[in-house]
Amino acid sequence: MSPTATFAPSCSSVSVDSRTDEVLPVLGRDVQVPLVTGGEAPYAALDYAASAPALQRVWDDVAAYAPYYGSVHRGAGHLSQLSTELFENSRRTVAEFLGCREGDQVVFTRATTDSLNLLAAALPEGTRVFVFETEHHASLLPWRAHDVTYLDAPRSPEAAVATLESALHAAPAGPKLVCVTGASNVTGEVWPVRALARAAHRHGARLVLDAAQLAPHRRVSLTELEADWVAFSGHKLYAPFGAGVLAGRADWLRAAEPYLAGGGASRRVSRTDDGTVEVEWQRSEARHEAGSPNVIGAYAIASACRALTEAGFDRLAAREEELLGRLRKGLADLPEVKVLSLFGEDADRVGVVSFVVEGWNSSHFAAALSAEYGIGVRDGLFCAHPLLRTLLGQRGDTPGECGAAGGTPALNAIRVSFGAGTPDEHVDRFVTAVRELVRDGA
Ligand code: PLP
Repeated sequence: MSPTATFAPSCSSVSVDSRTDEVLPVLGRDVQVPLVTGGEAPYAALDYAASAPALQRVWDDVAAYAPYYGSVHRGAGHLSQLSTELFENSRRTVAEFLGCREGDQVVFTRATTDSLNLLAAALPEGTRVFVFETEHHASLLPWRAHDVTYLDAPRSPEAAVATLESALHAAPAGPKLVCVTGASNVTGEVWPVRALARAAHRHGARLVLDAAQLAPHRRVSLTELEADWVAFSGHKLYAPFGAGVLAGRADWLRAAEPYLAGGGASRRVSRTDDGTVEVEWQRSEARHEAGSPNVIGAYAIASACRALTEAGFDRLAAREEELLGRLRKGLADLPEVKVLSLFGEDADRVGVVSFVVEGWNSSHFAAALSAEYGIGVRDGLFCAHPLLRTLLGQRGDTPGECGAAGGTPALNAIRVSFGAGTPDEHVDRFVTAVRELVRDGA
């Protein structure tokens, strides 16, 4: 870690008033964090891709609901009915947010990982799954009980479509599923979802979109993107932890065994004459939502969906473009900084940028950003080990998330990510910090 621990004076003078350049107010804007210098700095949250700060509005909505909290579904009391209505209204809000089609289902889950595992458990027998090696582990790994084709990392959106086309063309008849991410959690690059969905459909396959990184930044509509399912996480969409969504076609979900067996998922349970138990399962979303649901989580997601829709994705994207420009311009004249990219300079991207710094172990660099500048980023392999190996040009075993022993170059990177609550000052402070750390050396 750099021994110099000077905090840029311009940063310590930041006041909340200078943060009016955010699109939507988020929690945590006033949090001061200690620096190794002994001073403090306002925390610069630049790890939105892991978990975005909650919107103030989401928090307010949840607090306003708290006194009316009641059991859902089977409660006869007034507050139970209110909670049930709130839960089901949240489902409708999310369906609208996601451009769901007539007959689509919106299942509340714990997060994207849970949503994709649910779908994996619901695939018809014999389904072949096609997935690029570039995926986050949440969309790369759930399919392993099925016949999976792993596709090589494409170097352009067009190559992605061509790679998928030829793999599907060579595949035998039978049910097929393509799983693809909308925006990379490593490079921030946006994938050609509609073109991939069309390619899938041309070959009789279906497509599930991992929108964990896309949904917080761009409008995600099942209708417009022509995807069959979409999965996302509340905690990346400015809502608290613990809730997520799987939305899309009802047929495979309805035909599958419930993801969890238990109350709520069952419509009728009876003891048969031979002494066993027979179950008739629900056909609605409740089939895969056994147990008491996370009503607050669902309500918080719906609140975030409303806030983002009202703010407007055009405005969000324009603001992010501005921040990305600022960041890239700041890093461009530092030859020691290598930004990671699959699709190249001109790729369409959201506010997620990963890079390595010559002469630095990425985890030391990230630690210095925190300790010396009050900036929170992420380092490591971002749960996308095969992609990181491809981007860093390495193969073989990973020596651990945080670097290598014995002189092997460390297989890790630094990721900075932002969104609706990010003020210019956070990005400017980050650029200044990178410059100073590069100048001062590891
Ligand atoms: N997919 C992508 C692209 C992600 O970036 C992540 C998390 O970082 C996930 C899936 C998993 O999300 P969760 O941890 O909320 O289940």
